[in-house]
Amino acid sequence: MSQRSLWGKLRLIFLIAVLIIVALNAWLSKVRTTDWQEPLWLIIYPINADRRSDTQLFINALEREHFEDIEIFINREAQRYGVKLERPIEVYLAPLVDGILPKPPKNASILESVLWSLQMRYWAWVHDSWEGPKPDIKVYLKLFSIQNTQVLEHSLGLQKGMIGVVNGFASIDYQAQNGFVITHELLHTLGASDKYDLSTNQPLWPHGYAAPGLEPLLPQNKAEIMGGRVPINRTESVMPDSLQDVIVGEQTAQEINWKSAQ
Ligand SMILES: [Zn+2]
Repeated sequence: MSQRSLWGKLRLIFLIAVLIIVALNAWLSKVRTTDWQEPLWLIIYPINADRRSDTQLFINALEREHFEDIEIFINREAQRYGVKLERPIEVYLAPLVDGILPKPPKNASILESVLWSLQMRYWAWVHDSWEGPKPDIKVYLKLFSIQNTQVLEHSLGLQKGMIGVVNGFASIDYQAQNGFVITHELLHTLGASDKYDLSTNQPLWPHGYAAPGLEPLLPQNKAEIMGGRVPINRTESVMPDSLQDVIVGEQTAQEINWKSAQ
């Protein structure tokens, strides 16, 4: 055997070992976070995204109670699917994070997405303002002033790394909507998929509808959490006012392991 082919083989074995470790790690974290045996800690990290003083005033006044609707929603829906745990998700608020998140690549290739995800996890590790027990899931809440007329970027949730990035408005009037978007991204980190048409934002029937069997089907009066909106007619849908108008549909419940597949 020549030396060169020996090195080639060793390098291949090394690469395969790394891949197995990464895959095993992802699989273990998925199993651990969705076995629903112990509460998961969700930590919300507020960020002053436009560096305005009115945004800062809102962040200064934020309390953990402002995110209680997320816990109430998860508890209610988990119980409906027979999850025994009393508080499947515990929500806590970290102090302000001072830093700029790595920008997600646009129309990313798989490699770019993986690199960004690694960059994001490194950034999260460096910029950790939370001093309590280790979080299971981190959500960065990038807040913008309502005086700011820019259109908010898409929020996102990464299952690998258990990190979400949510763009929201720094106003108590928008806090219920912020809670809704945080919950949507939270469920992405647990393995739930989107159930709306990405080009039109219309929820997809049947799994993106809160009541897919309703007659007449439209208008619906609630939203499915991953459908993202309340369908009014075939081409229009609206954001729900609060998590009270939202449910976790059966397919989403299966994806996050609240319900076994039929
Ligand atoms: Zn989504």
